[in-house]
Amino acid sequence: MYGGYSPIRKCVAHLPLGRSRRLNGEALSNGVIRAEELERIVEFHGHMCPGLALGIQAAQIALREIGAHAQDEEVVATVETDMCAVDAIQFLMGCTFGKGNLIHRDLGKNAYTFWRRSDGKAIRVSGKAGVRKRDPEHQELFERLGSGNATPAERERLWELHHERSAVILAMQPDELFTVVPVDDAPPRKARVHVSVECDSCREETMETRVRLLRGKRLCPDCFDWELAAT
Ligand SMILES: [Zn+2]
Ligand SMILES: [Zn+2]
Repeated sequence: MYGGYSPIRKCVAHLPLGRSRRLNGEALSNGVIRAEELERIVEFHGHMCPGLALGIQAAQIALREIGAHAQDEEVVATVETDMCAVDAIQFLMGCTFGKGNLIHRDLGKNAYTFWRRSDGKAIRVSGKAGVRKRDPEHQELFERLGSGNATPAERERLWELHHERSAVILAMQPDELFTVVPVDDAPPRKARVHVSVECDSCREETMETRVRLLRGKRLCPDCFDWELAAT
């Protein structure tokens, strides 16, 4: 039921590493993000990494073209990845799952669409070819860590390279990294509120639109899959 998840799935990131190793204290010369803000983004995500750096740059374009989400100026983002970059977008754009103005399309792309509801202005920001490419040493260490074979020294070196690559990305102009095109599509519809009903198997309350019927029983998605597999 929870298959596929592995803590190293995303950016080999969530490993203990001294906070002193973070890239911080440097303001971005190319945009609107101040040094303290950069530090808060790193705090929010847990570390600085190339993915987060790309998200910061994508958000800089969106801030410039669309502006951040505010109570009276709704911004909706569709993200085509669930990698590190999305944390920068959440932080800087104010688009979050909880507010319903962050939508994940599982396409595995470094691409983000932003809508401003008030006037319908929308842009798609997509990574140019090669921006996620690692140099051979970086790639090899990344794979070694992913397979659980990295020594502490290799791990250290990987983070060094991670931080170097992040700094390179942050020093670039956002438009060197991303292509920006206007979008005509209507923004995604606002999420509706639904009632919850009790699952006939686990007894947990489940949004009615997620409940499925099996032999007359109303089941939550996990119980549905489980009962179906058991028969
Ligand atoms: Zn990361
Ligand atoms: Zn259930």
